[in-house]
Amino acid sequence: MTTATRPAKETKQPRQLPPPNSDFYGVYETLNAEELAILKQVRGFMESKVAPIITKYWVEDSFPFELLPAVKELNIGGLGMQGYGCRGGSLALLGFVVMEMARIDPSFATFFGVHDGLAMGSIYIDGSEEQKQKWLPPMARMEKIGCFGLTEPLVGSGTAGGLTTTAKREGDTWILNGEKKWIGNSTWCDVSIIWARDLADNQVKGFIVENKTTPGFSVEKIEHKIALKVVQNGHITLNNVRVPEANRLQSGNSFKDTARVLKMTRYAVAWMATGCAMGAYEAALQYAQTRLQFGKPIGSFQMVQDLLAKMIQNITASQCLITRMAQLQVEGKLSDAHAALAKAFATAKSRETVAWARELLGGNGISSDYKVARFFADAEALYSYEGTYQMQNLILGKAVTGLSAFV
Ligand SMILES: Cc1cc2nc3c(=O)[nH]c(=O)nc-3n(C[C@H](O)[C@H](O)[C@H](O)COP(=O)(O)OP(=O)(O)OC[C@H]3O[C@@H](n4cnc5c(N)ncnc54)[C@H](O)[C@@H]3O)c2cc1C
Repeated sequence: MTTATRPAKETKQPRQLPPPNSDFYGVYETLNAEELAILKQVRGFMESKVAPIITKYWVEDSFPFELLPAVKELNIGGLGMQGYGCRGGSLALLGFVVMEMARIDPSFATFFGVHDGLAMGSIYIDGSEEQKQKWLPPMARMEKIGCFGLTEPLVGSGTAGGLTTTAKREGDTWILNGEKKWIGNSTWCDVSIIWARDLADNQVKGFIVENKTTPGFSVEKIEHKIALKVVQNGHITLNNVRVPEANRLQSGNSFKDTARVLKMTRYAVAWMATGCAMGAYEAALQYAQTRLQFGKPIGSFQMVQDLLAKMIQNITASQCLITRMAQLQVEGKLSDAHAALAKAFATAKSRETVAWARELLGGNGISSDYKVARFFADAEALYSYEGTYQMQNLILGKAVTGLSAFV
């Protein structure tokens, strides 16, 4: 073929690169259309309202109260809980929602998880019918926000047998004394679930405290955190706090009942940790497609692709695990050990993934001007709160060996 007969050379179009997608195995497709619509609504809120402002709040250690009206409009209070003005829906949907929140901001997911899972969950799981009817509707509408006070300055992993906060009954009143540390939302919320040891029978019991109006209840903000900086964590002091018997969680009679709440919140943290890794991966992938070195996008280098491949492997493994965990819950088979395995695995893989994302950004990976740094720091808190990695493995170790290494 001569030059004269050759067709005109096509102008080379810049190649369209695939947009970052952290749902490689299509786990979102396990939801039905109605659930997907709710998730889309949450994604829209997180991307349009939270994402543009959250780094500023994270850097300043402050909470975006300006977002509360829009959060209330989402109508997701009490997701996964039935009746009492709660949104209802499956626990799978709840998992996807908190994963979606953490994909943009793990602090925001934690704020919601503390209110919805820990505070409302305690009342839903351990409260009487009367208590549920009284407290859950305003909390579902997010008119009243809750916190959950279990950890103490001197007792964290050992809360099952070692709580030092005491509850003493005098007639129809309980008197609480002690301190609680790390309590999320406590600096500004309305309802505190406080766990204390009953001096009469030495058992852990839960109390609903209207913290803004109850004398003897004070909170100091915990400053200088390096993770989940948007969440306002407080150090609570209880000095002869008087609570009516009507506010004692009527089905919370020992730590076993506290653990029923923790099982469900560990379930949720596994989803959050996966969302945290997804957010970091998507940001890192976008960076890899646009950052040029040696005249090429760094995403074209084999060793950078290796980092991205390992990240999406971790994320996909975690997503498949937690989706199965949700099925176990539906089948009524979810055990403490199932939730512990998922919490331990997903938080450990998330921690590994965000570190690779940070590495991929080079120097920019340590600057809060790039969101990967926020995910990198936040993964540390997810790894340790709601029971550390070691404590989850001890719960799992006890289940598989039949031998307890810790109590
Ligand atoms: C950001 C953030 C938010 C939080 N929010 C809340 C909240 O809202 N409400 C609340 O009640 N608590 C909250 N916590 C507390 C959290 O749950 C505890 O920090 C956690 O359970 C660990 O307790 P600790 O920090 O006292 O560590 P410790 O129990 O002192 O543990 C220190 C280390 O020792 C290890 N360890 C302890 N015992 C054993 C053992 N038997 N075998 C092997 N290793 C062991 C642990 O794994 C850990 O590595 C929050 C914490 C953080 C950081």
